[in-house]
Amino acid sequence: MSSTFRHGGDQLYGRDDNDTWLALEEVLGELEGGTALVFSSGMAAISAVLETLPIGSTVVVAEGAYNGTRKWCTDAAGRGRLGMRLVDVTDTAGVVAASDGAQMVWLESPTNPSLAIADIAAIAAGAHRAGATVVVDNTLATPLLQRPLALGADIVVHSVTKWLAGHSDLLMGAAVTADPDQVETLRGRRSLYGGVPGSVEAWMALRGVRTLPARMDRAQATAGELARRLDGHPAVERVRYPGLPGDPGHAVATRQMDGPGAMVAFDVRGGAAAAEAVCAAVSVLTPGTSLGGVETLIERRARYAFEEGTPPGLLRLSVGQEDVEDLWEDLDRALTGGAGQG
Ligand SMILES: *Cc1c(COP(=O)(O)O)cnc(C)c1O
Repeated sequence: MSSTFRHGGDQLYGRDDNDTWLALEEVLGELEGGTALVFSSGMAAISAVLETLPIGSTVVVAEGAYNGTRKWCTDAAGRGRLGMRLVDVTDTAGVVAASDGAQMVWLESPTNPSLAIADIAAIAAGAHRAGATVVVDNTLATPLLQRPLALGADIVVHSVTKWLAGHSDLLMGAAVTADPDQVETLRGRRSLYGGVPGSVEAWMALRGVRTLPARMDRAQATAGELARRLDGHPAVERVRYPGLPGDPGHAVATRQMDGPGAMVAFDVRGGAAAAEAVCAAVSVLTPGTSLGGVETLIERRARYAFEEGTPPGLLRLSVGQEDVEDLWEDLDRALTGGAGQG
């Protein structure tokens, strides 16, 4: 917890170096298969990566990418900083075609909140032929379920805030790459812009990561069960979960992931009003934004104006550690129109 260090050691000043970051970076780097750098938030890591692009570059962005990433690029495009091309990540040929003349391709898989799946290896190969750097936001899958660097991506970013730290009690981000030049460039961005995490948060995140396998196993098993039961529920029009055999992303997800994860999205019959009524009626689930904590969160994403394109009745679940039957009873009652216990 020091901002400065006695001369003669490995470390000089707290905006450049910190031993607690190093401990966390070692773990994240090993998990993703590269060198990790931690940042003060996911957006600080994302900003650092995007800022490596020369002025006037073009970036291809998944239209289902995290809203902050899309806003960042839209803002930069509006100021003449970058050119931006939005793509549907499920259309591999379309993404590869869009990467022609672009410097960076920004993927997310599964996407948030639609849980669409990108074929990372195929897109990375095509984008590399066009000379573009490929970045994957791996927040939803975590390195336990998907390792984009091994699939050909150049840089992985994380909102460590979510599954990795796992307890909804801190903000942190990370960028991971196996390219030593990129590591030094990103390290330079971090020191110059100052988006550095606190040492206490780094320690807490490291402690969170230690239980990631146990938390993910349980949350994923519960998510699979909820997805199966929601699929076929009379109040549900469509379930989006790559673990379901009927899901459009199932085949690619099965090939490139070690599990479908613990995020489930579903479209409620009756649109926005019906979906909001479900959020108001739950009592075991918590209506709220964010994801990856021990509590199951439910949110109608189209409540935000920036989620244009998201169906009005789509609800996103971040499945937590509660008992599956407690969750189902609550969800089923809320969907069937019963009042919650408050
Ligand atoms: C939350 C999130 C981010 C942003 O991370 P912060 O830690 O909130 O800055 C980026 N990508 C995805 C997929 C996220 O869910």
